[in-house]
Amino acid sequence: MNIAVIGGGLSGLLCALMLEKRGYCPTIYERLHKLGGVLDSFKRKKVLFDIGFHYSGALEKDQYLYNSMDSLGLLDRLKLEDYEENFDTLFLNDKRYIIPDGSQNFKKKLQSDFPHEAKNIETFFEACYESCIISSQPESFVKVDSRSIGEVMKDIEDERLRKIFLHFTIFYSTVFFENGSFDFYAKIFINMLDGTKKIKGGGGAIINALKDSLKSTTIKTKSEVTEILQDENGVNALICNGKKNSYDAIISSVHPKVTMMMFNELNKKQTRYTKHIDELEESPSFISIFCLIDEKINSNLYYYGDKSEDFISILPSREHEGKTVCTILTGSYYKDYKNLSKEEYKIKKEKECAFHLKRIKELSGFKNIEVLDSSTPMTKQFYSNGVEGSIYGVLCSAKQKSLSVLMPRTRVKNLYFAGENIIAPGLIGAFLGVEILMHYFKEIK
Ligand SMILES: Cc1cc2nc3c(=O)[nH]c(=O)nc-3n(C[C@H](O)[C@H](O)[C@H](O)COP(=O)(O)OP(=O)(O)OC[C@H]3O[C@@H](n4cnc5c(N)ncnc54)[C@H](O)[C@@H]3O)c2cc1C
Repeated sequence: MNIAVIGGGLSGLLCALMLEKRGYCPTIYERLHKLGGVLDSFKRKKVLFDIGFHYSGALEKDQYLYNSMDSLGLLDRLKLEDYEENFDTLFLNDKRYIIPDGSQNFKKKLQSDFPHEAKNIETFFEACYESCIISSQPESFVKVDSRSIGEVMKDIEDERLRKIFLHFTIFYSTVFFENGSFDFYAKIFINMLDGTKKIKGGGGAIINALKDSLKSTTIKTKSEVTEILQDENGVNALICNGKKNSYDAIISSVHPKVTMMMFNELNKKQTRYTKHIDELEESPSFISIFCLIDEKINSNLYYYGDKSEDFISILPSREHEGKTVCTILTGSYYKDYKNLSKEEYKIKKEKECAFHLKRIKELSGFKNIEVLDSSTPMTKQFYSNGVEGSIYGVLCSAKQKSLSVLMPRTRVKNLYFAGENIIAPGLIGAFLGVEILMHYFKEIK
């Protein structure tokens, strides 16, 4: 069976590796000159920065991601690193709150800090433990808890406590998102508390480990797929650089809205399906400032005010000549950058970065921040070729996840979806999505 994978980011590479393990020899089509997508790392003045990977949960021995990476042989190529201190520190209206490692430790700390909510905290954790198992087995992924986090934490009244719990929505949807899918929340929440780690070398190291593990995959870079062809038996070819290439199946790790636009002709059922996909809401966009901070920072720092726009964070990656390599991350709007001339874009970007830099200096007290680069919503759009530079693609809300429009198997025969838009974003979401997808590809001898 001849299989094409569109996109050479984390999900595309994972698809290829998992297909190889099943005996296939797939071909990856990547439109950029190099693999990696959002997980790429880059250097400025010899300092290594990450675009879209800082840390992940489920990386403790015997947790989901650890086991998945181990079974693919990736842990022989990657070094997992612990945080020297706790992984996240929150500043809620200036008051510091340290999230300790370990879900039981966290529960105990919360119950001691919010004794009037002790019973609700117990109930909330119980619900999270019930839904926290990450598994690609069919009986698990069809049994999605369709509630929102807001529904599950409805009895919690203390505003500060609500915000502490809602902090974890930022890892897969957006800031303080009560309508977020509870099902994925629980998986992130417990698995981060019990197994957050960094990976030495960041996103680039993950991409290299995947790339170096591939043996029988053909990799085509500078190869943008512009069209997917189908007949009455389903998808049968794609067009890349003006050339037609025939395939028995195509997996697209590109945004589903963009993928469906690659078809010239769709039947009635497929047109309805595309309409549903087009109606899906996107996660918000963001701006990153890549910098060196003249302080030792061992924990990710999140500053929250009353409104979601008040959010800004400092994510430390590694040490460089006594300084900490950091990404400052905060919300931004694609529409503010779209349609700007080169000069207008440069001015807008400089202005927005200066504004956030001033803000973060005031909030953190860090005086010496050397900015080496920055990225806007247009940058994420460039790396993903997604929709409006949204941080995680399709919004992982309770409503959208219960609709089940986006599953790896599509309404077009022999076309499959992978990628951050399908099940959920991030390392956990991408692995889970691709593992579920593999149920449709039987092992061949
Ligand atoms: C700022 C930021 C911070 C993040 N931090 C973390 C973190 O700390 N931990 C974590 O687990 N996750 C994190 N994530 C999420 C994680 O990076 C993504 O969910 C994941 O990398 C997505 O991988 P993907 O392969 O699904 O998509 P992408 O990386 O977008 O890959 C899609 C690929 O398809 C290619 N492509 C597009 N169109 C075509 C075409 N027509 N033909 C051929 N190729 C095409 C693109 O060039 C790209 O390489 C972060 C994301 C962002 C944006």
